[in-house]
Amino acid sequence: MSARPDMRRVWHQGGCHCGAVRFRVRAPASAPVTRCNCSICTMTGFLHLIVAAEDFALLTGAEMLTEYRFGTGRARHLFCRRCGVKSFYHPRSHPEGISVNVHCLDPGSFTPERIEEFDGRDWERAIRTTPPPTTG
Ligand SMILES: [Zn+2]
Repeated sequence: MSARPDMRRVWHQGGCHCGAVRFRVRAPASAPVTRCNCSICTMTGFLHLIVAAEDFALLTGAEMLTEYRFGTGRARHLFCRRCGVKSFYHPRSHPEGISVNVHCLDPGSFTPERIEEFDGRDWERAIRTTPPPTTG
């Protein structure tokens, strides 16, 4: 139907609202992203781009990150303690990887190819039936 999407990966940059936390992430210019309906993703409006650890680098702001855990405690939610923005974190679905908040990427660099819905309110079932896509 359409041309095969260009899956060559490039480095995108992003960060938190105040600019203390800056990172780079390697991903195609366009890729599927995930919207999750769990309690915390609903509140924060987080839009997930999930990558392997080697495709992510924190550039600045490690000392500004504060961690929050709840439920199973497996996801490590990371927030900037100055502006409160969660620009990336270690997700429960990929504890060794990174989920980047697409809303926190610098404008013009990355375009969501489509949005996949993940039923995080029924996490155990959803992870078996519709696991979130990753790049790389
Ligand atoms: Zn900040």
